[in-house]
Amino acid sequence: MRIRSSLTNRWSSLPEARAAMPITRILIANRGEIALRIHRAAHEMGIETVAVHSTADADAMHVRLADHAICIGPPPAGQSYLNHAAIISAAEISGADAIHPGYGFLSENAQFAEIVESHDIAWIGPKPEHIRTMGDKVAAKKTAGDLGLPLVPGSAGAVETMDEIRAVADEIGYPVIAKAAAGGGGRGMQVITGPEKLEELVTQAKNEAQSAFGDDTMYVEKYLGNPRHIEFQVFGDGNGNAIHLGERDCSLQRRHQKVFEEAPSPVITPEERDRMGSIVSKAMADMGYRGAGTIEFLWEDGEFYFIEMNTRLQVEHPVTEMVTGVDLVREQIRVAEGHPLSVTQDEIELHGHAIECRINAEDPFTFAPSPGLVNYYHAAGGMHVRVDSGLYAGYRIPPYYDSMIAKLIVYGSSREKCMMRLRRALEEMVIEGVKHSVPLHQELLREPDVISGDYTIKWLEEWLAKRETD
Ligand code: ADP
Repeated sequence: MRIRSSLTNRWSSLPEARAAMPITRILIANRGEIALRIHRAAHEMGIETVAVHSTADADAMHVRLADHAICIGPPPAGQSYLNHAAIISAAEISGADAIHPGYGFLSENAQFAEIVESHDIAWIGPKPEHIRTMGDKVAAKKTAGDLGLPLVPGSAGAVETMDEIRAVADEIGYPVIAKAAAGGGGRGMQVITGPEKLEELVTQAKNEAQSAFGDDTMYVEKYLGNPRHIEFQVFGDGNGNAIHLGERDCSLQRRHQKVFEEAPSPVITPEERDRMGSIVSKAMADMGYRGAGTIEFLWEDGEFYFIEMNTRLQVEHPVTEMVTGVDLVREQIRVAEGHPLSVTQDEIELHGHAIECRINAEDPFTFAPSPGLVNYYHAAGGMHVRVDSGLYAGYRIPPYYDSMIAKLIVYGSSREKCMMRLRRALEEMVIEGVKHSVPLHQELLREPDVISGDYTIKWLEEWLAKRETD
């Protein structure tokens, strides 16, 4: 392991650093743009950071910016970013008093959260029991139902046998969707349009779930024909106080993965936002939820249907930050220090509109990954433009990890102005040496349905299929 010498902590005398249980040094158990995002919030609070990295990431920006850096293993994530023992050792060696897991990797691993806490290191995330419950989608659905959230009709719990699945499907009516209880990232789910293919598709979903999550427990729910994906950002202090920060619309998806997100949703009225927002924040208060969370719904014909809760910061959290002015990572750190939330529900006001484009190192037409050397990079800038990225000219994007290399987030006082600014910002982005999705976003922003906000979770797949045949 390598420890780089510490930079001086220039802001340690600010009052914020003298809280009841102040955090002074955060180990960031992640990489890429989210590691930078956390580093930035920490430094703005006068808190030092410790980067951990695999050998493939020795030259990564998150390693360069952190006060300390420790190599925790070889490129495969299982031996580095997912390696509990190496990360805990790195925290002990570097004297970190808190761990922030970011998203992905260990962020929703209840066992790891427990190990962190048992080492007297603050876990900047929800209580382990809430991570565990919400990570099992069957348990999550039951909890959500008990807390009064509207559910997608479906099996009461896990379904064991093919006969049981067939009976549930017959009762709720086709099409149905078989989903893995341990699912995530759109994997382990299959849409079943009729009884003929049920057995084959359920077996396929089970196999996928077994190999991706080591657990093939399935449940079944009604497959909604043409919904939007709308999610609420929630925040709790762990002591029975919780707020919501409005919704994000993440309906533009490819293979159940989000491509483009906006806040607020173009279809949600202020009254609907207030109604659903108070339901979700009351649910979080009743649970005693701590930290940031996202409650995901499908929305069809004016009705919300709970699908899952993510017990972590989301990739798309900046759009919420842009329209509320609340720094969610700062809030996470404060809550982990034992502070109450710094804002009340009455103080949360939505202003204007924000859109995020996920920029991946991949071919914008075939979606084939395109890792490699970035020989030129220029980020967009200007008023209300935010680029969260670890890119720099001369950086070699390793082939081992997620292909997302940047997020472009733009704010405007109205949705229309936001889109004008986004088009302008996309024109300014220059990433040379690898293929990337900027051209895809530019194309999308010329589409009348995207311009009017008239799209559902099916829209992008249909548009891509049409583009291929044209
Ligand atoms: P994951 O955890 O893998 O992301 P989710 O349960 O959040 O899985 O679902 C991901 C996406 O799959 C949703 O945003 C939606 O596009 C689609 N989906 C999930 N459940 C349903 C359903 N019952 N009907 C229609 N689409 C669904």
